[in-house]
Amino acid sequence: MSRRRVVVVGGGISGLTAAHALAPTCDVTLFEAAPRLGGNIVTVDTAGFTLDGGPDSWVNTKPAASELARALGLAGELIDTEGASRKVYVSHKGELLPMPDGLVLGIPTKLGPMVTTPLFTWDGKLRMALEPFIPARQSDTDESIGEFFSRRLGDEVTDKLIAPMLGGIYAGDAWEISMQATFPQFIQSERTHGSLVRAMRAAKKPAATGEKPKGAFTSLRGGMVSLVEALATRLEPAAKLRLGRRVDAIARATTEDAWTVVLEGGERAAADDVIFAGPATALQHAARALDPRLAAALGTLRYTTTATVFFALRRDDVDHPLDGVGYIVPRSERRSTMAATWVSSKWANRAPEGHVLIRTFFGGAGREAVVDLGDKELVELATRELEEMMHIRVRPVFTHVFRFRQASPQPTLGHLGRVRHIRDELARSPGLHVTGSGFAIGIPDCIKLAQETARAVLARPLAS
Ligand SMILES: Cc1cc2nc3c(=O)[nH]c(=O)nc-3n(C[C@H](O)[C@H](O)[C@H](O)COP(=O)(O)OP(=O)(O)OC[C@H]3O[C@@H](n4cnc5c(N)ncnc54)[C@H](O)[C@@H]3O)c2cc1C
Repeated sequence: MSRRRVVVVGGGISGLTAAHALAPTCDVTLFEAAPRLGGNIVTVDTAGFTLDGGPDSWVNTKPAASELARALGLAGELIDTEGASRKVYVSHKGELLPMPDGLVLGIPTKLGPMVTTPLFTWDGKLRMALEPFIPARQSDTDESIGEFFSRRLGDEVTDKLIAPMLGGIYAGDAWEISMQATFPQFIQSERTHGSLVRAMRAAKKPAATGEKPKGAFTSLRGGMVSLVEALATRLEPAAKLRLGRRVDAIARATTEDAWTVVLEGGERAAADDVIFAGPATALQHAARALDPRLAAALGTLRYTTTATVFFALRRDDVDHPLDGVGYIVPRSERRSTMAATWVSSKWANRAPEGHVLIRTFFGGAGREAVVDLGDKELVELATRELEEMMHIRVRPVFTHVFRFRQASPQPTLGHLGRVRHIRDELARSPGLHVTGSGFAIGIPDCIKLAQETARAVLARPLAS
């Protein structure tokens, strides 16, 4: 029996993972529009600095990324956030204030630090303290992150901490992002315990093992691109990796369930199965003639645009202890900066001796226009706000700008229903599979979904 021919569209972490899972048993060709692999994952090594322009790590509560890295022989490359510097600061009225101790994703679990912090007014603190007495919501309709947490803990903590932290994960507006699609565990906590604070307290503390406590995130010694490079090395020559090749259309071939992938410029490739691992917007374009209803359904998913601006600085020029991972900036502060990471405090070996590396974030839902500024203007804006927020004079060794256009999916209210609708429409096209951003958010979930998609490909019987 001939080997199954699979075309994978998109060479980000999703497409590479799917190709990696299929390459041993299938003829895999991967088309990537850009001249490089990795998609959002981009690492620049320069002058002794390591810059992860997009993702810098993955969350440890989801094991798929660490498992894949180990399977690729990267166990010795996995690094944890630097233990001494896991503090997060909050920009508040021109000062950087440490986030109070005992907050778990913005939910207070200790009383003392909440009482003493100058971050909240007394009204705000009192409102938070009432959380255990707020009745649980009975309705099953979707609610935004902002609505959910304002209802439980009040507007102040939602604006200052929860919206920038939880909304920030999606570069989204917390008052638009769906709770059901992003943090269903908190909805469950409310239902089970009647209160988030009670639920957090009830959550068992891990038994003391004597080991150094692990941070919440894992990265790679050589930067995130190591994962991409390890996948690419394993894939070649078993799979064909075709860079700089944009897929323009997907069409049915002459036999009922085989596919033709049409590239820009007219080249064609035949496949038994196609895995689309680019953004949903790209599949919307590629499927426009194949199935207008599917294309319309894909068009309901929204993405936003972001940029990161890096500052390589001399340590002596930064009069701040940099004793944390960085700071978040609530929208109410009316800044363009969303957040900043003190990269060289968060991770070891990201800057040479005597230097530090800072990354600032821009754009996101409703604030995309700033990403269209030229590099010079964007760096000027980033510099001004960095100086004002950190009270330092910025004299960079160098700066670097990365842009991510329409790259961050927005799981807004009703997102789960829209994804179900897309899956229903897709059922008319056996052998056409979707994975990747839009359907899974963050590296571990992208990896997990890509592996599940590969299994679905193998499980589909081939026409003989
Ligand atoms: C600034 C930023 C920071 C982030 N930080 C984190 C983080 O710290 N941790 C985390 O877990 N996640 C983070 N994310 C999210 C994470 O980057 C994504 O979840 C993940 O990388 C998505 O991978 P993907 O392969 O699905 O999509 P992408 O990385 O978007 O890759 C899709 C690929 O498809 C290609 N493509 C598109 N259209 C076509 C076409 N028609 N033909 C051929 N190829 C095509 C694109 O060129 C691209 O290479 C961050 C995202 C951004 C933007």
